[in-house]
Amino acid sequence: MIQSRREFVVEALATGIAMGEQKDNLQIATTLKIVQVGDAVLRSKARQLSVEEVRSKGIQQLIEWMRHTMYDAPGVGLAAPQVGLPLQLAVIEDKDEYMRDVPVESLKEREREPVPFHVIVNPRITKHGGHTVTFFEGCLSVNGFVALVPRSRQVTVECLDHRGEPQIIHASGWHARILQHEIGHLRGELYIDRMISRSFCTVEAFTRNWKAKTINEVQKALDIKG
Ligand SMILES: [Zn+2]
Repeated sequence: MIQSRREFVVEALATGIAMGEQKDNLQIATTLKIVQVGDAVLRSKARQLSVEEVRSKGIQQLIEWMRHTMYDAPGVGLAAPQVGLPLQLAVIEDKDEYMRDVPVESLKEREREPVPFHVIVNPRITKHGGHTVTFFEGCLSVNGFVALVPRSRQVTVECLDHRGEPQIIHASGWHARILQHEIGHLRGELYIDRMISRSFCTVEAFTRNWKAKTINEVQKALDIKG
């Protein structure tokens, strides 16, 4: 599937050039290959980017490609190591349309609300707040599986944005979870390092057995201490 998309990109590029357009003016969305668990890059410690690097054409292009790759998956976050690059860069967005199939109670329980597109570069969690909350979580690099993962309900993150400007993000609920998940990737961590392993299951089993249940019910059924 990815290959055919790449072929399309090559074809579109060729067509554009044939039409005499400048390559730079072509708005072509490239989908990058998302590496899977077992690939060493997911366990490497990503390196920081300088402000100049963030503003460079190469990184700006990478951000656009990662954004498109995240939409295509679809996912709510994507870190550079997931596309094979050990750089401290991740893109995040949680869209209204992703929540349409999620029951209102579930959105409430997770404190999940739309999060506009944003980029985090060289992020550091400077504060963990609130109590620990446990929910099912998946990862585009552990394709087809989910598990219960305890995380802080609130975090403060210091980072650079897509322009290389310093930012301080105060996040709670699902956004805080996404940030912790993506920042984990930049340290060479995966959610499976933190998961309650008894809850690890396929997405199919999750949909069949757990999706409609509360976390308390799941924990009880799986004999997990809440
Ligand atoms: Zn992930």
